[in-house]
Amino acid sequence: MEPKGGAQKITYSTFADNQELHGAFETAAREVRGWFGQTHPVLIGGAERHLERTFDDLNPSDTRETLGRFARGGAAEVQDAVQAAAAAYPAWSRRDYRERAALLRAGADRISAHRFELAALMSYEVGKNRAEALGDTEEAADLLRYYCDQIESAHGFTRPLERLTPNEETRSVLLPYGVWGVIAPFNFPLALSAGMSGGALVAGNTVVFKPASDAPFTGLMLGRILQQAGLPPGVFNVVTGSAAEVGDPLIAHPALAGLIFTGSFAVGTELERRFSAHLPKPCILEMGGKNAAIVTAQADLELAAEGIGRSAFGYGGQKCSACSRAYVAHERYDELLERLVHYAGSVKIGDPLERGTFLGPLINRAAVDKYRSAVELARRDGRVVTGGGVLEQGGFEHGHFVTPAVVDSLGHDHPLLQEELFVPLLCVAAVADLDEAIARSNRSAYGLTAGIYSRDDDEVQTFFDRIEAGVTYANRRSGATTGAWPGVNSFCGWKGSGNSGKGACGPYYVAQFLREQSRTWMR
Ligand code: NAP
Repeated sequence: MEPKGGAQKITYSTFADNQELHGAFETAAREVRGWFGQTHPVLIGGAERHLERTFDDLNPSDTRETLGRFARGGAAEVQDAVQAAAAAYPAWSRRDYRERAALLRAGADRISAHRFELAALMSYEVGKNRAEALGDTEEAADLLRYYCDQIESAHGFTRPLERLTPNEETRSVLLPYGVWGVIAPFNFPLALSAGMSGGALVAGNTVVFKPASDAPFTGLMLGRILQQAGLPPGVFNVVTGSAAEVGDPLIAHPALAGLIFTGSFAVGTELERRFSAHLPKPCILEMGGKNAAIVTAQADLELAAEGIGRSAFGYGGQKCSACSRAYVAHERYDELLERLVHYAGSVKIGDPLERGTFLGPLINRAAVDKYRSAVELARRDGRVVTGGGVLEQGGFEHGHFVTPAVVDSLGHDHPLLQEELFVPLLCVAAVADLDEAIARSNRSAYGLTAGIYSRDDDEVQTFFDRIEAGVTYANRRSGATTGAWPGVNSFCGWKGSGNSGKGACGPYYVAQFLREQSRTWMR
């Protein structure tokens, strides 16, 4: 199938009002509806295996609609998948890295070719609006390409080292580990799944992938695409199912050589403890955020309000990079608050498949409950300036829709300013100056993204030098804290947001899936 709608790149921040793209998305959305109502298998050793036990994948915009019934994997499927991945490992790891990269690039090209169908599926499955869903899809393809470029430009990560005597020769080579477990969250169901898997695979590892329970369809599509691109059987296996029934046995499997997880702090840190309990093994964790934006007295407030609003309410605050705190110079506080309230009020809420919708549903009932509790807490301990509603009428009653909330007058150490909520709720607080804003931003267990608005270059430089976050932006309209892109914005979580010190989307990513061997040869 040929790419529809031309070849221009769609990123989170560049989606324009392009009629051709909208038309292609709408055609794909109709086509994708024809995929619904089927029963889906797990993918093990290159074969699709149907299971008796299934679970339903519901549309969060209208939970009366079941997108499909998905195989409910368990310990037996995990065992078979790890075994298949182990069997495929020797040939895959010995294959020339350029051949592995060529196959993964073919996968990236298939994602690009089917970007509208994949994006539409994502809108149905996890409630992303058109631009967000297309961005996620394009990012998945670009992540695969970027990681292929990375191993190629490093010549497969082999290089000569120094010698101590004339007749010796030493090379450093980076080699894969074996079978990796890849555990993904629901919120970037294609980009993160493809990115984590792509890094592991291009390095020569084989993979058992567990998608999130709220996004099995997109996860399974990734498996099918990589298989169609020519990955040999067993190199990439997909086991759908729950954390308890698939995740737990996967983590516990003794043949798993490495683990990469993206998800919440609580789950990630627990998995790391269990995964490395008996033997040190590589375990890459990419976790949550409580990301702050700083608005100084020198800021352009129109720019700041748009950038903060986009990052706080885009995809309902369900991004690890979402802006959930804003620290504002006290003399500009009232004006910025007014602009944020206006922004929140102008957000178009609705079916994410509709043109013009900015905010779709939250992912599930638990997320709505979390939003409701957070709003109650804000009402009790502070002030809900705007929003705070759960939409239960007017066409919204069968989905998980809420209104964007702006909250203030909370104590600086209040849980709403400390805990990741993953809902569209922005806490705003006044500060005396930049020093206080940076100190308050840094007073967090997390350290993922941060942004500043200031026309003063010295202030911006001070922010970059002192902020404790791995992904930082200044004066960005498209998002105060969100919108990283492969090869453009490395995405490295500091503190409780990540453990590897090297970012996805960044130049050091692939090396994390490899271990070093030095080879000294006396001639
Ligand atoms: P989550 O609840 O932590 O789940 C993430 C994945 O872990 C899911 O596949 C989940 O399976 C699985 N899982 C949960 N418990 C497990 C266990 N005991 N053993 C094995 N697997 C287990 O996170 P989420 O709600 O899907 O995603 C949101 C979180 O991801 C937020 O905290 C967000 O900040 C973070 N995130 C971070 C980044 C980053 O790059 N730093 C990017 C995106 C998202 P089930 O779905 O079956 O429960």
